[in-house]
Amino acid sequence: MKANLTGNQIRQMFIDFFVEHKHTFVPSSSLVPGGDQTLLFTNAGMVQFKDVFLGTDVRPYTRAVNSQKCMRVAGKHNDLDDVGRDDTHHTFFEMLGNWSFGDYYKKEAITWAWQLLTEVWGLEGNRLWATVFKDDKGNIPTDEEAAEVWRSQPGMEPSHVLYFGRKDNFWEMAEIGPCGPCSEIHYDRGPEACDKQDVPGHVCQVNGDCKRYLEIWNNVFIQYNRLSPTELEPLPARHVDTGMGLERIVSILQNVDSNYKTDLLSPLLDTVRELTGHTLEEQAANLTPYRVIADHTRAATFLIADGVVPGNTGRNYVCRMIIRRAARFGGKIGLHEPFLARVAQSVIENYSQAYPELKRNQTAILDSLTREERRFQRTVEAGMSRLDEMLAELKASAGQVLDGLRAFDLYATLGLPLELTRDVAREQGLEVDEEGFRRAMDEHRVASGAGKAMGAMGGEDVEIYREMIEDMQAAGHLSPQGVAYDPYHTLEVEAPVLALIQDGRPVKEAHPGDRVEVLLPQTSFYVESGGQVSDTGSIVSIQEPRWEIRVDDTRKPAAGAVVHVGQVVRGDPLVGDIAIAAVDAQRRQDIMRNHTATHLLHAELHEVLGEHARQAGSLVAPDRLRFDFTHSEAITPEQLERIEAGVNRAILENHHLNITLKPLSQAISEGAMALFGEKYGEVVRTITIGESEPFSYELCGGTHVGETGDIGLFLITSEGSAAAGVRRIEAVTGRGAYDLVQRRFRTLKDTAAILTTSVEDVPEKTQALLADLDRTRKQVAALRQELVAAQFAQKLDSVEQAAGIPVLTAVLPNADAETLRQMTDRFRQRYPSGVVVLGSVIDGRPMLIAAVTDDLVKRGVLAGDVVKAAAQLIGGSGGGRPNLAQAGGKDASQLPQALNAAFKYVEGKLSS
Ligand SMILES: [Zn+2]
Ligand SMILES: [Zn+2]
Repeated sequence: MKANLTGNQIRQMFIDFFVEHKHTFVPSSSLVPGGDQTLLFTNAGMVQFKDVFLGTDVRPYTRAVNSQKCMRVAGKHNDLDDVGRDDTHHTFFEMLGNWSFGDYYKKEAITWAWQLLTEVWGLEGNRLWATVFKDDKGNIPTDEEAAEVWRSQPGMEPSHVLYFGRKDNFWEMAEIGPCGPCSEIHYDRGPEACDKQDVPGHVCQVNGDCKRYLEIWNNVFIQYNRLSPTELEPLPARHVDTGMGLERIVSILQNVDSNYKTDLLSPLLDTVRELTGHTLEEQAANLTPYRVIADHTRAATFLIADGVVPGNTGRNYVCRMIIRRAARFGGKIGLHEPFLARVAQSVIENYSQAYPELKRNQTAILDSLTREERRFQRTVEAGMSRLDEMLAELKASAGQVLDGLRAFDLYATLGLPLELTRDVAREQGLEVDEEGFRRAMDEHRVASGAGKAMGAMGGEDVEIYREMIEDMQAAGHLSPQGVAYDPYHTLEVEAPVLALIQDGRPVKEAHPGDRVEVLLPQTSFYVESGGQVSDTGSIVSIQEPRWEIRVDDTRKPAAGAVVHVGQVVRGDPLVGDIAIAAVDAQRRQDIMRNHTATHLLHAELHEVLGEHARQAGSLVAPDRLRFDFTHSEAITPEQLERIEAGVNRAILENHHLNITLKPLSQAISEGAMALFGEKYGEVVRTITIGESEPFSYELCGGTHVGETGDIGLFLITSEGSAAAGVRRIEAVTGRGAYDLVQRRFRTLKDTAAILTTSVEDVPEKTQALLADLDRTRKQVAALRQELVAAQFAQKLDSVEQAAGIPVLTAVLPNADAETLRQMTDRFRQRYPSGVVVLGSVIDGRPMLIAAVTDDLVKRGVLAGDVVKAAAQLIGGSGGGRPNLAQAGGKDASQLPQALNAAFKYVEGKLSS
C-alpha cells in the first residue's frame, strides 16, 4: 500500500487515473439538484448524468470522471440518528465515479478498477473480493461476463469472485427505466477488524454484518430498460456508472478504523478540541458530540456555499436543523458561544482546493453560521426547559411518545427542530410522533401561505428577509416597525446601505453588472399596490469613488422590509456606504397623474352609468391607466364622450386633493369608497377631491397630484369587455395624452398633404373622392356589361343545334350573375325555342346559369337538371326554377367540360 497519501491526493489520483484513460473531468454539480423537483439534495454521483442515461440529454464526451458532493439526511440511505454514533455515517460525503455513456463496458471498467486499486494505490490483491450478479429469482441471466473479467485480473483469487442476488447486485433507477447488474469490490481488513468476534456462531463474510469486509466500490452496468416488473429489454447503448465513497477509501489507504480518523475529518475534530481545551482522552470520552459537530459543520459549510441558508422549509430547514443540532452538541461539551464558524474555517481550508466555491463564499458561510447560532441561542434555553417540562409530564402520565403537535409548537415558537427534540427524548428513553410533527408543519405552512413542501422559494424568501430584519432590529439598525416607508412627502432620501442581497443572500459588496437588492433604513420608493406600479430610480453613493445602482423595481419581501431591486451600473457598492436614493421624478409624476385620473374616472362612471359601476381592478402605470368596473352592457359612444368630458371638466376646475388619515370606521360611515377584497388597517388613508361637495372620496394608499389641474388632459383610448359583466376602459393623461394628440395631428396633417388640401378640408375632400370613386366604379360596371353584350351578340350568331333545337353554351369572362341572366333573356328573345347555358369566372370561382324556353320545359328539359349535370364537373351544385337555374363551383379549369356536359345532357334529353 502506498504510504502517506492525503485525502486530497487520493481524490486527485482517482481523477487523474481516469483522465489518463481519456475521461473528461466533470466538476461536481451543486448539492441543490438543478431542475429536479423530486429530490431534496443531490445524493449520488449520477444525479447530474441522469438525463444522459434516460436519453434526454447528450454530452460532448462519452467518458467522464467526477467527485460529487452528496447529501443524505433522511430516507432508506441514512438515519440522522446514526450520524455521530458510528464511524461511517455522514450527512455530507463525496462520491468518486467514472462513467461510460455508451462507450466502454465491463472489461475496461473492471480492469481499470483493479489497476487503480492494486497498481496505483498498492492494495494487496488477495485482500480484494468481487461480487457479481446471479438472479435469485432466476429470470435475468447471470453476469458471467463480469465474473470472467474479474477472474482474469493478475493476482485475483478466483475464489474471491462471489455471486449475489437482486438486493445486493442489481441496480434500478426506478420502477421502470434503465437498470442492470452491478459488481461490488470489497476490502478485507483482516480478522482483527471483526467487531463480532465474541458473538457465538459469527462468521466473517462479504456482505456480512461485521466490520471486517468493507464495500469500497460499486460498478453498475446499465444494459437493460425495464418496461414492467417482469419485462426487460436490452438497451442499444450500454453504460457504466460507478461510485466509490471517498471517506471510506481514504480510511483504508490511511489504515484507520474510522472515517473521522482520516485527514478529511480529523482536522475538524482537532479544531473542536482546541476550542474546548480537552485532552485527547477527554475527546475520546465525548466522541459523539465531536463527530456530530464535525459532520454537521462540514455539511452546513457546503450547503451554504451552494446557496442553501438556514430557514423553515425544505432544504433550508435541513440547513437550520443541522446547524442547531451541532450547536446543541457543542453545548454538551461546554461550547456555549457561537463556535461553528471556527470549525467551518477548517473545512474551508481543507476542502477549498477541490471545491473553490467554499473560499469564494467564505464570508457568507461564516456569517450565516454565526447568525444562526445566535438566533438559536436566543431561544434555546427556553426551548430546552419547555421540552424538559413536556417530557416530565409525559413520563408522569406513563406516556412513551411526545405529541407531534407539541413538538412542532416547540419548533415554531422556540426554534427546536424535530431532530433535536427527538435527540433529547431518546436520551430519556422516549420517542416523538414525527408523523404528527410533519403534519403540523405542513398545515402551518399552508396556513401561513408559505408554499408547498420542498421549500417553495416564496416561503423561504419571506423567511430570509424576515430574519434579516429581525437581526437588524436586534442590532439597533432598524426601528421596530422596520424600514420607514414614505413615498408621499419626498422623492429622495439619504441613508446608509444596511444590506445588499444577491441571489437571495446577503453580500458585503457588489460590482458593476451585479443584480442586487438594496435595503435602506428608509425609502421614498413606492411599492406596487392598489394597481399602482413600483417606482424606479437610482441609488448613488455620496462618497468618492461614486457608485450607482439603477433601480428598476421595488418590493416588500416580508413585513417591515422594503428592498430596491436593480443593477450596479458603476462602482462597487459596499454595505455601510451612505447613499442618496432618488425616485425617477418624471415617471412618478406620470404615475400620479394617472392615479388621480383613475379616481376622477371612477366618480364619473358613477355619474354617467350609475352607482353599480364599481371598480373591479385597475392598473396605474406611467404610460397609461386601465380601469375595470362592473357594468353589464356595452357603453354607447355618447356615454363614453360624456365620461371623458366629465373627467376633463374636473381637471380644469383644478380641485385640490385632500389626503387625510382617519379610522376605518369613520371613513366608511362617511361614505368613502372601499374596494372589495382589499385589506385595510385600523387607520386608513383617504383621498377626497372636490371642496364643498366632494365628488370623489376613496380609501387609497397610492400617490397623487396636488391639484387635478396637474393631470393636464385625459383621453380614453379604448373601451371594451374585460370579463362577463365587467367593462374595461383604458386612458392616457398628461404627457401620454399630449403624445397621443400629437400623433393624431401628425396623421391628419399627413393625410391632408396626401389629399393636397388643408386639414379643415380633409372630410369634404375625402367625401368628394369617395363619390368620385363610386361613379367610376359604376362606369366600369356598365362598360363591362357592354363588352359582355358585344361578345354575346357574336355567340348568338353561332348557335349549335341539338335534335334540331338551338342550344348555346358559352363562357363569358368576368360577367356577374346579373349580366349572365340578362344574356339568357337576349337568347330567349332571339330563339323562341332553345336552351342556353352560360359560364363565368368571378374572383377565381366558376359560376353557371341555364335557361330553357317554356315549350322545352314541357318536353322535360328542366333548367335545374341542366345546371346540375354541368355543376358536378366544377365541384359544385345548384338549382332554381324549371326555366332558369344557376350553380356555383370550385374548379374554374373544368368550366369548358362542364358546358360540354350540359350540351350532352340537353341533346340526350331532346333525342329521347
Ligand atoms: Zn466478523
Ligand atoms: Zn387610488
